[in-house]
Amino acid sequence: AKAAGKRQWCRYRHALQAGLVERHELNESLDTAIAESAFALYYQPIVDLVSGDLVAFEALVRWPHERRGMVLPEEFISLAEESGQIVPLGAWVLEQAAAEAAAWQRLSSGRRTAGGRRPLRVSVNVSARQFRDASFVDQVRQVVDTTGIHPGSLILELTESVLMRRDERVRTDMKTLGDLGVRIAIDDFGTGYSSLSYLREFPISVLKIDKSFIDGLGLSQQQYALVEGITRIADTLGVQVIAEGIENTAQRHLLASMGCPLGQGYLFARPLTVEQARILVQDDAEL
Ligand code: C2E
Ligand code: CA
Ligand code: CA
Ligand code: CA
Repeated sequence: AKAAGKRQWCRYRHALQAGLVERHELNESLDTAIAESAFALYYQPIVDLVSGDLVAFEALVRWPHERRGMVLPEEFISLAEESGQIVPLGAWVLEQAAAEAAAWQRLSSGRRTAGGRRPLRVSVNVSARQFRDASFVDQVRQVVDTTGIHPGSLILELTESVLMRRDERVRTDMKTLGDLGVRIAIDDFGTGYSSLSYLREFPISVLKIDKSFIDGLGLSQQQYALVEGITRIADTLGVQVIAEGIENTAQRHLLASMGCPLGQGYLFARPLTVEQARILVQDDAEL
């Protein structure tokens, strides 16, 4: 038994070392990728659940890698957060997404004149580590200035972990961003240490309900009641709700009927390439 235990430990240590080596390699190639801006942003449509009108896109990062193929964020975001590489990576994402949104606004401005729709928005994920970086707010200001995006069209998706630290910096930064006219969303709402009090403590304009709640919508009365309750409270506070991960029409109709105005999910579209997204914008598509 002792020998078996030892063999097992050796295997374990081996795996651990392999993991470390792999991690190190990944960190190094991330460095190179950051230096070369070798990432790609995909854009997932956010739509009006009743009309199907396109109202925004969420920017989602990918890493096209010669050996690994298209690497998804789950494989490198947390690593980049631990190493701090998320700061330059996130800066690239923000700038890229804002510039693209400014381009959509130009593409569609000729078509939507009198009585037209509001300009398309872009929603960008910001990790806690990135938000805490001292230069974050300046960076947002600079991106707004240089890209010409309408600040109200830029949504920054923060997770609850940012708001949990109710320190002075978070408060003043949120206020400055609000004054800039940029919108702040709470992402993955309901999965962390959610507190509805964030909605009155901070200038929050959007609340994104996590996919895990949407999954159970048609299946459980409780899930339904929970989502409906969140939607009502948000509505009362003037906060817009976006439901994530809508995969079927039943979910879409349940959400629309409870007064949740906006959503995204594979039912409408998967994350799209820049070119695909532009075609939707140009065609003024309904989904
Ligand atoms: P998230 O912010 O919750 O983004 C939604 C994720 O759900 C995306 O995965 C999206 O492709 C996926 N999704 C959307 N609709 C559906 C659906 O109907 N069904 C299913 N099964 N999935 C759906 P993705 O692109 O792999 O991103 C995963 C996570 O990585 C994101 O979760 C976000 O937390 C993070 N992430 C992505 N891009 C960035 C970024 O630029 N910066 C930072 N800090 N994090 C990012
Ligand atoms: Ca998000
Ligand atoms: Ca989510
Ligand atoms: Ca998220």
